[in-house]
Amino acid sequence: MSTPDADCLFCKIVAGEIPATVVHESPSTVAFRDVSPQAPTHVLVVPRSHHADAAALAAAEPATVADLVSAAAEVARADGVGDDYRLVFNTGAGAGQTVFHTHLHVLGGRPFTWPPG
Ligand code: 5GP
Repeated sequence: MSTPDADCLFCKIVAGEIPATVVHESPSTVAFRDVSPQAPTHVLVVPRSHHADAAALAAAEPATVADLVSAAAEVARADGVGDDYRLVFNTGAGAGQTVFHTHLHVLGGRPFTWPPG
C-alpha cells in the first residue's frame, strides 16, 4: 500500500479533506461522482492508495484493479444503468489523463459511439 501524496487531489478526496459525492466504498476503493459529468452516470472509482495510473496500480496491487472493476459494476447497478456502461482509464496526458491518481471512469445512461473522441 502506497502512502498518500500530499499534493494529490484524489488522495484528498479519499481522506475526506476535499468534499465529493461518494456513492460507494470498499476496503480498497472509493467511488464518487465526477464534478463535470459527461453522461447521466459519471462516477470515478479510485484506489485508496496512490498510484499515478492504471498500469502503476496493476504493477503494485493487481488485486485492486479487479476491485475497481467490481466496484464499477456495483455503481452501475445502483445507478440503474444495468449492464450497459462504459469503463475508461485515461492513461497519460496525451490520452486525456489530467489527474495522476488511478481512476476508472464509469459512464452510463446514454448511448455511446465508437471510436471515442
Ligand atoms: P482524467 O481526465 O484524468 O481521466 O479524469 C479526471 C476527472 O476528474 C475529470 O473527469 C474531472 O472532471 C474530474 N475531476 C477533476 N477535479 C475534480 C474534483 O475536484 N472533484 C471531482 N468529483 N471530480 C473532479
